[in-house]
Amino acid sequence: MSRNYYMAGNWKMHLTRTEASQLAQDLVKQLGDGKHKYLIAPSFTLLETVSAVVENSNIRLGAQNCAPEEQGAHTGEVSVLQLKDLDVQTIILGHSERRHIYKEDDALINKKVKLALKHGFEVILCIGELLEERETGKVEEVCERQTVKGLEGVNAEDLHNVVIAYEPVWAIGTGKTATPQDAEAVHAFVRKVIARLYGEDAASKIIIQYGGSVKPDNAAQLMAMENIDGALVGGASLKTDTFIPIAKFKS
Ligand code: PEP
Repeated sequence: MSRNYYMAGNWKMHLTRTEASQLAQDLVKQLGDGKHKYLIAPSFTLLETVSAVVENSNIRLGAQNCAPEEQGAHTGEVSVLQLKDLDVQTIILGHSERRHIYKEDDALINKKVKLALKHGFEVILCIGELLEERETGKVEEVCERQTVKGLEGVNAEDLHNVVIAYEPVWAIGTGKTATPQDAEAVHAFVRKVIARLYGEDAASKIIIQYGGSVKPDNAAQLMAMENIDGALVGGASLKTDTFIPIAKFKS
């Protein structure tokens, strides 16, 4: 199996333009010889600044969300057309903070996924269960539902531009990480769901990242699992000291 690792940083609602520019410049320098696929996803207000820094580098530019409509009377939203204008390549959708704090449901996320794909973006579709769902044996049910509904109406051609990020909600920003074995079990299950929907070949190729308190000291063990193809990193992506060792983990 030769899937390439995809290491992504979600900067969430952090950093000013000066800080973001400095961090992006440091990453461009230090990841220039990196062997994996890389992405950083700053806040909307930082995209123009960071876009200029990562242009012509091996770091992709990501947004953390987009509106479900192309344009119009949608106060406070940001459209795919505006993201394209800033050379954004990838959009993270369905992040658990969008699902649980801002109450985005599967139907809304699916609308955004289809719109982003229609406009040629790569989509990182986040899925993952709450702690009580894990404790009541609903991990597979939740991850299957979020995958199936998130991808409803997405054809096999467009699936090439989809990455799945499995992010157990209880592990995000909490310092608790799924064990490599627990994460692997969910990744293998999600790959089976993709096989059922799109066939074995598509399932063997799709990138499935793990997210949830990935740190320099646990990245290599997680990445060693057969079905874990990269990481979506929150807190540890805000400093080169922590992101570089993750992004350049040693297998
Ligand atoms: C995330 O925001 O996607 C995430 C995984 O955060 P953290 O690494 O801080 O848990």
